[in-house]
Amino acid sequence: MEKLILKSGRERSLVNRHPWVFSGAVKTLPKSENGDIVEVLTNHNELLGYGFFSPNSQITCRVFEFTSEHISLDHNFWKNKIKRAFELRKKFIDENETNIYRLLHAEGDFFPGVIIDVYAGVAVVQLLTRGTENIKHIIYEALTELGFAHIYNKTKSSTQRFEEVTTESAWVAKPHIMPVECIENGIKFLVDVEKGQKTGFFIDQRENRKTLGEFSKGKKVLNTFCYSGGFSLYALEAGAELVHSVDSSKDAIEMCDRNVEANFPNTNHQSFVADVFDYLKQTEIDYDIMVLDPPAFAKNARAVQNAARGYKNLNLTAFNKIKPGGVIFTFSCSQHIDRDLFRKIIFGAAADAKRNVRILKQLTQPADHPINIFHPEGEYLKGLMLYVE
Ligand code: SAH
Repeated sequence: MEKLILKSGRERSLVNRHPWVFSGAVKTLPKSENGDIVEVLTNHNELLGYGFFSPNSQITCRVFEFTSEHISLDHNFWKNKIKRAFELRKKFIDENETNIYRLLHAEGDFFPGVIIDVYAGVAVVQLLTRGTENIKHIIYEALTELGFAHIYNKTKSSTQRFEEVTTESAWVAKPHIMPVECIENGIKFLVDVEKGQKTGFFIDQRENRKTLGEFSKGKKVLNTFCYSGGFSLYALEAGAELVHSVDSSKDAIEMCDRNVEANFPNTNHQSFVADVFDYLKQTEIDYDIMVLDPPAFAKNARAVQNAARGYKNLNLTAFNKIKPGGVIFTFSCSQHIDRDLFRKIIFGAAADAKRNVRILKQLTQPADHPINIFHPEGEYLKGLMLYVE
């Protein structure tokens, strides 16, 4: 196996089990292709672990196993990673209540480069690098062994471009008719894994939706960037006075309407295909609660400044609009904006709006999106529940 040798003094983060090797830390590159498995060694030829080589990325190598001993990377090695991830989910996911969950969360399950989401028994695999693409058949086989009859491979266009992943989006086992009928905390959701955004649903907001529900009884709720209506449905279930859902995607709003219809027909819900910034500026409704859950504004480290401006603008607009005593649930899912920076941005918006703002609750991702403690970047979903005087 080819070897990647680190520069002297650059092994610290690897010794601390951070799974990424950045290009600047590498002394000797392996003679390997994109996606090949390599040994990662210190400058003194001590083995630190094994990783997927990714020569075109800033992250030259993604380590999936830290070990000072040579080990066999056979089929069972990979299957065990998936089985362990599945076992963990089984400890807290009650499928009678919630059958939408993330089975495997890349670095969070010590398996960088792959995500597996489950929708009522339909497994959706997202291969994010060439390295995991090379072993995709083992991944599919592991899922079959775990009892998943329907398996869909969903490829992101950005990974096709940047990581040279070539597998097309397609069913790899027994197609399922779309949409899949699922439940989350007992609420019905239709999920289109083929045409929907991401793998079909924003699974990571499950607990935050529940929190919103706890505060929504009798309230006027505005759910911006609503996608298929996740937050809206929890507000309706709680008995909100009215719920308005806004998204710029017509397909998302159609799904949102179908989800409302499937659960709470004849409730006071209205949806709007609109740009959130425009909607917020023109609305004259005195909402009690607003949800701000935009897509990741910072897709890479260079975009952080512009993204920060975007988040500030959005939150400032909401602070200017919300009535005294109103509550805002605000989120960022940009990995490149950490919890502290996000809070500073919100602080700036509150200061500009000249409103007294208090944090009632800090919000994050649920347990099926575990954060590898050695990989703080895995804590990508940040949220604040704010009380605005
Ligand atoms: N809160 C949602 C997930 C939001 S994902 C949930 O719980 O499921 C972000 C959504 O924002 C996407 O549906 C996307 O279509 C929408 N979007 C992106 N830019 C927008 C804009 N400027 N105005 C309105 N919607 C936008």
